[in-house]
Amino acid sequence: MKVFKFGGASIKDVDHIRHVANIVREYSTESPLLLIMSASGKTTNALEKVVENFYNGNSIEALKLFDDIKRQHLDIAKYLLVLNFNVCLEKMVDLFTEVEWLLHDKPVWSYDYYYDQVVCIGELLSTTIISAYFNEAKIGNTLVDVRDVLRTDNNFRDAVIDWQYTAHKTAEIILPAIEKNGIVITQGFIGSTDENESTTLGREGSDYSAAVFSNILNAQELVIWKDVEGVMNADPRKFPSAQYLQHLSYAEAIEMAYYGAQVIHPKTIKPLQNKNIPLYVKCFLDTGLPGTLINSEPVRDLPAILISKENQALVYFKTIDFSFISGHPMNSIQQILEKLQIKPNLVQTEAISMEMCFDDNAKLDTLAQEASVFLEVQLEKGLRLITLRHYQQHDLDNHIQDKDVILLQRTQNTVQAVVR
Ligand code: ADP
Ligand code: ASP
Ligand code: MG
Repeated sequence: MKVFKFGGASIKDVDHIRHVANIVREYSTESPLLLIMSASGKTTNALEKVVENFYNGNSIEALKLFDDIKRQHLDIAKYLLVLNFNVCLEKMVDLFTEVEWLLHDKPVWSYDYYYDQVVCIGELLSTTIISAYFNEAKIGNTLVDVRDVLRTDNNFRDAVIDWQYTAHKTAEIILPAIEKNGIVITQGFIGSTDENESTTLGREGSDYSAAVFSNILNAQELVIWKDVEGVMNADPRKFPSAQYLQHLSYAEAIEMAYYGAQVIHPKTIKPLQNKNIPLYVKCFLDTGLPGTLINSEPVRDLPAILISKENQALVYFKTIDFSFISGHPMNSIQQILEKLQIKPNLVQTEAISMEMCFDDNAKLDTLAQEASVFLEVQLEKGLRLITLRHYQQHDLDNHIQDKDVILLQRTQNTVQAVVR
């Protein structure tokens, strides 16, 4: 059995969904398939805007934005479906009602709770439409609501999976359905608590869901279908000269993802490595291309790999009375970070000062404010974090030559620079 994951980019419109059907038809003759799908296109971003408006008291705007999302999905369903349209519509309306019912209320619980209840609809809608379309195209399949299978805690927006319960439900629900129909379609990124509240696993988390099910089902392989040739040594959207990488080790892939290469979610590798399941990142647009194979074999002679993260902010802390920053001040900063649930991408410590580089977000103002009670704090936004692996000095020079380097940190394999 193989697990295939299709991201938002691969199911963004009618033509793409038809193309997915062709891929599935071709591969399902070779092997039973579990298909993990994301929300279509940029639906998750659009749903985030709905939640923001709802939580800020702009219910009317939230409902209006939600109407746009409804219309887009109804349009896709109308184009794809004839015979199955009414059945699909009924299911979609149930999903719409779930959200609208909530948006008509006043928020009384946490932002993260509402986020998960609303945002999960993206994946539920895309899979409902695609399953109906597959039925119409005579691709037999079972649609499973992953919230009946993937159990998590209630740490909304970054929920932690209960592996034991999820494995039990996978054996009870998913496995027999695959044996019956050969194809099961379910949602990535979402799950639910033991009180049936919806949860999400963190942005871009569908890759992780696919790896979790691959692990539990001892899949022969996981294929993540992308709009690129495979994993490249830089984001080809930002660096058109990026080179395709045919083979990577789990170790290299986890490092790349950890430093922010957006092509794979960082949590994806561990469940695969633990069961030695190969991961292929394959080109959705040209299935004849080999894609990138990621497995346990070490790979030598890799070219320099570049990961560039924009929208970074640097927080500079300094003790007020010349006491060392390690010890009490550092522990207190750590506590604030845990409370705000934010993690730095880079930390540099000196005797009486420390710098931390973060993805820019509103919580940094709270961090700066709370830390300024016991430290001198400065915050600079609009920066970029460049990470290079397997670099030669000239690679580094090329990438920083026309920039103002604020911080540079290097080990034998990796160099990171925060630049203006
Ligand atoms: P999906 O919707 O399928 O999850 P994403 O847009 O999240 O797709 O991820 C695919 C994108 O990742 C590519 O279009 C590419 O621009 C970007 N990307 C970033 N880093 C890399 C890399 N090292 N190799 C390949 N693609 C990368
Ligand atoms: N739809 C979710 C997101 O956009 C999950 C995913 O695509 O992996 O973050
Ligand atoms: Mg993605």
